[in-house]
Amino acid sequence: MSAIHESRGVRRMTALDEAGPAEVPAVIELAGASKIYSGGVRALNGVDLHVESGELLAIVGPSGSGKSTMLHLIGTLDRPSEGTVKIAGYDVATLSDRELSALRARQIGFVFQQFHLADGVTALDNVAEGLLYAGTNRRERRERAAEALDRVGLGHRLGHRPNELSGGERQRVAVARAVVGEPALLLADEPTGNLDSVSGSGVLTLLRELNTAGTTVVIITHDAEVAAAAPRRVRLRDGAVVSDG
Ligand code: ADP
Repeated sequence: MSAIHESRGVRRMTALDEAGPAEVPAVIELAGASKIYSGGVRALNGVDLHVESGELLAIVGPSGSGKSTMLHLIGTLDRPSEGTVKIAGYDVATLSDRELSALRARQIGFVFQQFHLADGVTALDNVAEGLLYAGTNRRERRERAAEALDRVGLGHRLGHRPNELSGGERQRVAVARAVVGEPALLLADEPTGNLDSVSGSGVLTLLRELNTAGTTVVIITHDAEVAAAAPRRVRLRDGAVVSDG
């Protein structure tokens, strides 16, 4: 999708926002959400989930329990086969692909196990990229990127490229990129999966700090220690929520 189309999408979302829901909506609202893959695999089966602004929760479960599928639905990367998925009050089934990518760009920051930083590009520019669709100019993008890097403790690494940073530092850059646009929701998929335990707990501490400062954080993990750090744990098994608390 071109930048022009993307920016049109953002404008449409702005118009939607102005008309937007009267009450403050839940950040995530899944009702009877199912995902049936071709071949009939029910990867998620009638999941209800309500996440309020400011929560920190871990979605946990063994391999094959439906965590990635849940991530795709919450991240609006996919639509449910049955039931509804609302993010920040918007029903994803009613939005066009363009509106969906605008919703994603404005409301959701993603952090992945593999960092997904651009090689050969400084930490500052990697983070500034997180604002490409926000309609800000390059200078403002870089200023806000520097602030975000400062917030994650990397104010002294602005000009470093990913190969000049440790794994923990790379993940901090990825977290800075995810939050630079001040999304309603930070969605982290196995964020410590590629890190040693010291760097991993540093990244978890950072996610908790961001949460304390007001960001809603959802961590998808199969790691019991990571899950234990979250005040709310939603446990999946065979595509269904088996416990939540
Ligand atoms: P987890 O992330 O917890 O390992 P997934 O969401 O990846 O679980 O998978 C849940 C179930 O859905 C598994 O049985 C998996 O084999 C199946 N599945 C996942 N993706 C697809 C797909 N694209 N097509 C068919 N089946 C899939």
